[in-house]
Amino acid sequence: MREISTLSQQLERLSNYVFIFVKEDGYMSYKNYPMVSRVVFGRGSFNQLEDILQSKRLNVKAPFIFLVDDVFKGNSWLTSRIPLAYHDKVLYISAEEEPKTSQVDELVEQIILGHKDHPSGIIGIGGGTILDLAKAVSIMLTNEGETRNYQGWDLVKNPAIYHVGIPTISGTGSEVSRTTVLTGPNKKLGINSDYTPFDQVILDPELTNGVPKNQWFYTGMDCYIHCIESLNGTYLNAFSKSYGEKAYDLCKAIFVDKKLSKKETQDELMMASWHGGMSIAYSQVGVAHAMSYGLSYLLGTKHGIGNCIVFDHLDEFYPEGVALFKKMKDIHNISLPKGICANLTDEDFDTMIDVALGLEPLWENAIGKNWKNIITRAKLKNLYQKM
Ligand code: NAD
Ligand code: ZN
Repeated sequence: MREISTLSQQLERLSNYVFIFVKEDGYMSYKNYPMVSRVVFGRGSFNQLEDILQSKRLNVKAPFIFLVDDVFKGNSWLTSRIPLAYHDKVLYISAEEEPKTSQVDELVEQIILGHKDHPSGIIGIGGGTILDLAKAVSIMLTNEGETRNYQGWDLVKNPAIYHVGIPTISGTGSEVSRTTVLTGPNKKLGINSDYTPFDQVILDPELTNGVPKNQWFYTGMDCYIHCIESLNGTYLNAFSKSYGEKAYDLCKAIFVDKKLSKKETQDELMMASWHGGMSIAYSQVGVAHAMSYGLSYLLGTKHGIGNCIVFDHLDEFYPEGVALFKKMKDIHNISLPKGICANLTDEDFDTMIDVALGLEPLWENAIGKNWKNIITRAKLKNLYQKM
């Protein structure tokens, strides 16, 4: 065993990472993260859902509950392939607003009251909003109390019930992540736990066929911004770099080079989302996410577009990343909303700044250990005022 003194330099650098801590005996301990246990990839792989679920049914009274984005209501191309049997149920859910802890509580109550037996599984079919709801509901079916009490890190005690994620839009990385981002009564924060990742993911790029162009860009840019924040962060390490670089290259091929066919674009963006999510699993996001959480908390600005609005003004932090982002906007004719902070009060700015500054690991990743000397309230207000 090497002595800690010989590791001191490395330790100094590594102890910046939120996923490494130093044990009492002075040795480093690395977090042992769970991953998605099973994944299917392929155009049309959604057809295999019935086969996949068959062996997971606990008994005929224990239903599968499908949480489906209501954009698919009446879309028989998709819904006719949802395999319903016995007491299985489809709940259509709007993705108009991002998931709330109270919404999770209501869904859990509805499921418990509506069925005698605990469900065999929860299947989320939709974008980041629906995937996060599916993860949260599967956790809260086996954990007592209110969802808001589990916002944070490693607060979940009991394993979730079997849960499956089927993305229909690509970019957030929610399909692969260890968190489910929820807005609660006093904070927007994820349930980060070993029980959060999906047991099964089905990656069928065909399901992204109907995504509107602007939304495709916003959610796709979430992935691009994950890469920039991870690759330019102080937490960067070979694990995150390998995934981040791959996702970055895919994003460039999709959003800048534009040499891919529509099918290739769909396939590759789905994989970029996966790699972008994997990259931040073992590092962190940065300035854009911290500030966009503020916008989301106060104004309800959605994650994808909110990240874009913020990132557009972050050339000071990510000069090359922002320059390429602006080029992508031009190529795809995207004009972002302006003046969303124009009529806010000082109190409003304070609320957003509090939310943003509360996300300490994000700032530490972006700026370094001395971030508090650089990121002042005045600086953030000035940035928000430009948006
Ligand atoms: P979304 O789920 O909010 O959906 C955006 C829009 O696209 C909605 O109107 C939806 O109905 C529509 N849509 C989705 N699929 C479609 C399809 N195939 N055809 C037509 N319309 C379709 O979008 P998102 O950007 O994927 O998710 C944002 C959410 O993800 C936020 O709540 C954010 O907090 C969360 N998020 C979670 C993580 C995580 O790791 N858990 C990471 C990043 C973001
Ligand atoms: Zn994101």
